[in-house]
Parts: sequence; structure tokens; C-alpha cells
Amino acid sequence: MKLNNRNVIKGQMNERGLKFNKALGQNFLIDDSILDKIVEASEIDADTNVLEIGPGAGALTCRLAAAAKKVAAVEIDTGLLPLLGENLSGFDNVNIIHGDIMDLSLKELFENEFESGPVKVVANLPYYITTPIVMKLLEENPGFESLVIMVQKEVAQRLTAHPGDKNCGAITYSVNFCCEAETVIDVPPEAFMPVPKVWSSVIKLTARQKPPVDVIDEQHFFTLIKAAFLMRRKTFLNCVSQNEVINVKKETLREILRELHISENIRGEALSLVQFSQISNAIIKRNL
Ligand code: SAM
Repeated sequence: MKLNNRNVIKGQMNERGLKFNKALGQNFLIDDSILDKIVEASEIDADTNVLEIGPGAGALTCRLAAAAKKVAAVEIDTGLLPLLGENLSGFDNVNIIHGDIMDLSLKELFENEFESGPVKVVANLPYYITTPIVMKLLEENPGFESLVIMVQKEVAQRLTAHPGDKNCGAITYSVNFCCEAETVIDVPPEAFMPVPKVWSSVIKLTARQKPPVDVIDEQHFFTLIKAAFLMRRKTFLNCVSQNEVINVKKETLREILRELHISENIRGEALSLVQFSQISNAIIKRNL
């Protein structure tokens, strides 16, 4: 049975009285060539473990299971579980985990699911929650080798931008710190069912062996970047000195900027990755 077939998936959903849940970002991929491209870009072999987020009806999961050592797939929608069980019954290397990916500890999940070998994350992500999922993967850093993910095209542009580019946002810096990013392929709306209003892109983020800048505390560094982008019209100095988590006095931050030869009128998007790391390290040293 061809799972990517529009009528097959529709038929399976109808049989069970299931409806595509818009709120959960359920746009299932039905284009063979794109499914193949995702698996090819993931470079999975028989030693590779895969974490899939949101298996849906299992079209991508089947392909991943055929190539990988093991696939652990996290699906939030209870209604899809029997369908997944049926569609994946031919594989003994797949574990479907019912849950919200945002509620799970990725370190525990990796430890419980994968015994040895590299872990790669592969997903056609639900668009309503793309950025929080990517941030979670980067911040929890459970030890993945790469992420091959389908995201909305505009989000792909932000994730693959360089710090300082016009498309950049807080997440651009976090991605750059942890990974090398590339676009694999742009995907038209017709590749999905139901058809979304927007174009998508498959991107690949490959984990760096070593971060490109030295930071004393990664969590602080990520929080500083997020704080700098919270209010885009404000200067970095105003955004960060008003942030309760960073908790640095305006005068102290002004002094730090002065010492680093950075203008106090600069905005977050004009700072480089190196400058963010220098500021984060300087704040931490003052608080020691
Ligand atoms: N992988 C399938 C495909 O490519 O056809 C489905 C992808 S669909 C874009 C996104 C999937 O993520 C849906 O199955 C949806 O129910 C699931 N999902 C949405 N939010 C989730 C969450 N917080 N945790 C886990 N799965 C989630």
C-alpha cells in the first residue's frame, strides 16, 4: 500500500472518523520525491538511530524505518496511534511514543530509546510550534548529529541566515552557534494534504563539533540572545537591561558595551555571534 497516496490516507482517516487537525499543524506529506529527498539528505544507514517528531500517518516513518537501525517517533494526537500501529506493523524497529515533544526531556528520551550509534532528527514539523521545537533541540542538546526538517519557507530563511542578515532573528544566532545550516529543497504547497497556504523548505542543520565562539554559560548566552530580540525596535541596551532573567543593571551593561567598543545605541540584530558571546561572558564574570 502506498502511504503517500492522497486517497489512501484520506480513506484511512475517514474509516476511523479522523479529521486533519489544523491546530496541530497536520499537513501530511504526499509527494514521493520529497519524501525520498528527506531520507537521502538525512544520510541514514543501518547504524543510525532516528528521532521523528510528528509521524502523522507514518509516510515518512516507514521510509526512515526501512533505512535506520531504530526510529523513535513522538506523536501528540491520540487518534493517529491506531493508524500508525497499522501502517508500521511491518517494522520491528519503530517505537511510537505518545506525547507532546515540548514536555519530554530529550536527554532521557535519547538514553531510553537509543543504545548506541549516532542519532539524527528527521521531521516534517508542525508549523505552529517550529521555533520552540528547534530551540528546545539546540538548548537541551541531547547529542544529535543532524536535523533534517521541513519548515515554512520564511522560517527556513531565518534558520539558514547568517547573523546580521536581514532575515535573521534570535534563532539564527542559536542555530549558528550549534550547527551548520543549509537548504535542501523548496517544497510547493501541493506536496501536502491538506494543501497549506504557504511554501515550505527542507533544511539540514549539522551539529558542529565545537562551537565557533567560547561561552562560559550556554544557557545564559541563549537567554541573552532571546532578550535582545524581544523588542525589535528597542536598542540592545534597553531590551537587555529590562530583562528580569538576565538581571543586569543598565549602567553595568553600558560599561560592558563601552569596554567592548560597542555602541550603546546598537540593536540586537547588528551584533555578531562573537559580540554576543563577549557580552554574555562579561555579565557572568561581573556576577561571579
Ligand atoms: N510526518 C507526517 C508527514 O510528513 O506526513 C506528519 C507531519 S504533520 C506536518 C505534523 C505532525 O506533528 C502531526 O502528525 C501532528 O499531530 C504532530 N504534532 C503536532 N504537535 C506536536 C507536538 N507538540 N508533539 C508531537 N507531535 C506533534
